[in-house]
Amino acid sequence: MRPKTVGILTSGGDAPGMNAAIRSVTLRAAYMGMETLGIRDGYKGLIEGNFVKLTREAVEGIHSTGGTMLRTSRCPEFETEEGMQEAIRQCRKAGLEGLVVIGGDGTFRGALDLTHRGLPCVALPGTIDNDIACSEYTIGFDTAVNTVREVVDKLAATIHAHRRCFLVEVMGRAAGDLALHAGIACGAFAVLVPEVPFEMPQLISEIQRAHEKGTDNFVIMVSEGLTGTKHSDKPTIHQMAAMIEKELGINSRGDIIGYMQRGGIPTARERLIATRMSSHAVDLLTENIGGRVVVMQNSQIVDMDITEALAMKRVFDRELFDIANSLHV
Ligand code: ADP
Repeated sequence: MRPKTVGILTSGGDAPGMNAAIRSVTLRAAYMGMETLGIRDGYKGLIEGNFVKLTREAVEGIHSTGGTMLRTSRCPEFETEEGMQEAIRQCRKAGLEGLVVIGGDGTFRGALDLTHRGLPCVALPGTIDNDIACSEYTIGFDTAVNTVREVVDKLAATIHAHRRCFLVEVMGRAAGDLALHAGIACGAFAVLVPEVPFEMPQLISEIQRAHEKGTDNFVIMVSEGLTGTKHSDKPTIHQMAAMIEKELGINSRGDIIGYMQRGGIPTARERLIATRMSSHAVDLLTENIGGRVVVMQNSQIVDMDITEALAMKRVFDRELFDIANSLHV
């Protein structure tokens, strides 16, 4: 009898740890007696039949690299009925009997649609933003936190030397988790996130108070969801720095870390969680179970119904936020 064949694709924004997941899906599937096809370019590759056989040799060593060897894309065509039917036709032709997808909410919706059309799909949460409601952890987050930590550790020398106030803008879209976790790791004076209302005068008076008590260098970690662009009514990170300098006379700078946060060598924790989630996903597919997303809840790897997962509301860790903003006198 022909061995069962499962597929793996990465979709939406890329994140470090996706390669570790591709490797573990391939190896775990082989261990369970199954074969794996990699689908290139996310759902676009599914429609185009852009498949590659994944073997032990093909995935050797990829766990230590960032990005995704299968590449990713955004594919509006997949959201149409014709696109979806073509994807199903390509899967049948290639003998695919199950699929693991890694991405965010949009990717999960695609997995659900495919499952409803007869191809069992299991989704894994993947984004550096950690903004997926159903899971405490998303693949990519720990590496991004560590990348920010590394950059700010390097900036610390100049901040200290010039007695500066440095406002560091990090990614996260509408979620402040990256700013919060990296802020604590970097010993930030304050963390600003979109989930918690913030007033510039209050920040300025806190800096002033600490300055009067002897603090002469400051890191303020700011989530991108909180800052504006040149043409919006919210101030940019550079305008915020200028306001502080003008009010307090402290040498202040704004810095945007940018896309390097998406890259980097995945941390050990990243690889570990990606491996645990992937193995769980493969085990579901061996039983032909689809329509599930593998998540971390209470530090355990479990799975849940995708529809229920999509209906969940994200909870921001307010307690941790309050701790982060209390670590100065
Ligand atoms: P993310 O997965 O990170 O949320 P997107 O929202 O861009 O990223 O979704 C990734 C891809 O998932 C889209 O390009 C599209 O192909 C597919 N997708 C998104 N929304 C849906 C949907 N409602 N139904 C089916 N597929 C979808």
